Amino acid sequence: MFGSLGNKISALFTKKKLDPQSLDALEELLVASDISYGIVAGLISEIRRQRFGSDASDAEVKEILRAGLLKILAPAEGGFDPAGKPCSIVMIGVNGSGKTTTVGKLAKMYASKGKSVSIVACDTFRASAVEQLAEWAKLAGAKFVSRANADPSGLAYDGLSRAIKDGDDIVFFDTAGRLGNNESLMAELEKIIRTIGKVRAGAPDATLLVLDGSGGQNSIAQMEKFGANIKIDGLVITKTEGTSKGGFLISLAHKYKTPIFFSAFGEGPDDIEPFDAAKFVGNLLEI
Ligand code: GDP
Repeated sequence: MFGSLGNKISALFTKKKLDPQSLDALEELLVASDISYGIVAGLISEIRRQRFGSDASDAEVKEILRAGLLKILAPAEGGFDPAGKPCSIVMIGVNGSGKTTTVGKLAKMYASKGKSVSIVACDTFRASAVEQLAEWAKLAGAKFVSRANADPSGLAYDGLSRAIKDGDDIVFFDTAGRLGNNESLMAELEKIIRTIGKVRAGAPDATLLVLDGSGGQNSIAQMEKFGANIKIDGLVITKTEGTSKGGFLISLAHKYKTPIFFSAFGEGPDDIEPFDAAKFVGNLLEI
């Protein structure tokens, strides 16, 4: 159990000189929070350069860390622009990451800005997921397209065709996320994306990967798996409330430079906001 990175750093640098032991302990804490070793080594050497041998408070150490982490994460902060008519957005991610909930929240957000939104339930084999999404569509005031046990790409084709005919502004495609069946899942997702492109050249306008913000190394593995098969245009990070496991996002931003568009922080319909790197780093370090 990792606990909280910010609290542990505070405990480490209370009445402590910045010596090799405390720097080693800090290095261990940062690596355990899923920040990759190369990044941690850079941060530690920066702290050493600025403060070695002197007394350093936890606040001073955190300040140096904050600057270093923000330098990596801030360029990944992406403002999402739902361009395209309709802007077609495919949401991908493993089951449990928060995909369906995120589709519901984003549909509500855009609908409340006056956009006409439709949701296509491409995870056609999971009745509970379809029901859950239907509830979200109702709450959001979005149109809902589903067909039990239908071929997911066939449904995607029909959903986008209908959205074009209706003159919708945004259409979300929620997809399946079964783990343990990687090849057929990826083949299904690729087919959905190809099919959407046949309805309108250039579509989908965005393929967004939903990652659990408390997922640590698992979330990194998911980025690698999905990214190996599918072009990911951006990320949505869920469950960011009170997470101390968010260090993985620093590693992802450093390695992939994929824009991070949204951060979700609860189960309520309005618990989503544009991703804010400074806020995320502040929460991670508890400052
Ligand atoms: P999916 O299988 O990827 O579609 O995931 P769901 O949308 O069904 O979400 C899985 C669980 O995580 C549900 O219990 C959601 O209520 C919950 N969930 C989704 N997003 C968030 C979030 O941002 N914060 C928290 N605390 N829970 C979330």
